Amino acid sequence: MAPEALGDAVRGAAAMGWAGFNCSIPHKVTVIDHLDELAESARIIGAVNCVVRRDGCWVGENTDGQGFLMSLRTVADPARMHVVVLGAGGAARAIAVETALAGAAAITIVNRNRDRGAALAELVETATPATAAYVPWTGPYRIPADAGILVNATSVGLYPDGGALPDLDLSTLRPALTVADVIPNPPATALLQAATTAGCTTLDGLGMLVEQARIGIRHWTGLTPDATVMRDTLAALFTPH
Ligand code: NDP
Repeated sequence: MAPEALGDAVRGAAAMGWAGFNCSIPHKVTVIDHLDELAESARIIGAVNCVVRRDGCWVGENTDGQGFLMSLRTVADPARMHVVVLGAGGAARAIAVETALAGAAAITIVNRNRDRGAALAELVETATPATAAYVPWTGPYRIPADAGILVNATSVGLYPDGGALPDLDLSTLRPALTVADVIPNPPATALLQAATTAGCTTLDGLGMLVEQARIGIRHWTGLTPDATVMRDTLAALFTPH
């Protein structure tokens, strides 16, 4: 869909009585111009991936970060933790803001592009209760000893480059660390395999994908679909045979 047609599309959705819709790249930011309200995290993140009709108004939500948090909480609570986020794109923005709003004490943003990385650290620092710092990604990154959660929110490892590893000093992976990857395809990324070998707790990107979808469906229908059915179906699609 052409960006200039977005307003007509949103008005069309209202005319047809839609309960809401999902919104993906490249419309996650520009769709905001056509909405009536934003939920708190969507306002801070500055992007909407899920639009919900409430009392005749279009409300923008960002369910990427919420989905990540739901998935993360099955293995670790970010409250009072030092969370290291690799990347500063859309997924990293949503995850950094949402984990900070969930009570993380400190967020470190590690990114190659300085402007994007520094801007995300500044956003977290000013818009959430967490402290935040940007670390330029200039060589194998050494995970700080006090980090509790490491999140790969880059596109490194996404199919068809499933064997690619983020540039990390793998000797700094420790059993006390939870390592999460946003990459849903393949679910068992090279990073998660290395983390498993090092004794870390791991979390794949399928959980985030499933949970953000379940949150959206709950917003639109009031019903929460079965996570196991969704996860098994995606795993069958994404796992090499
Ligand atoms: P963006 O294009 O917005 O951001 C990409 C990020 O990856 C940037 O920070 C970029 O760094 C970094 N990056 C890319 N290549 C490298 C590399 N070789 N080394 C280091 N950093 C690199 O993408 P999104 O944030 O939208 O998506 C990122 C990933 O998250 C995708 O693979 C997507 O599939 C996944 N995702 C998963 C979801 C889920 O539900 N599981 C939901 C949303 C996204 P720089 O700024 O320096 O260029």
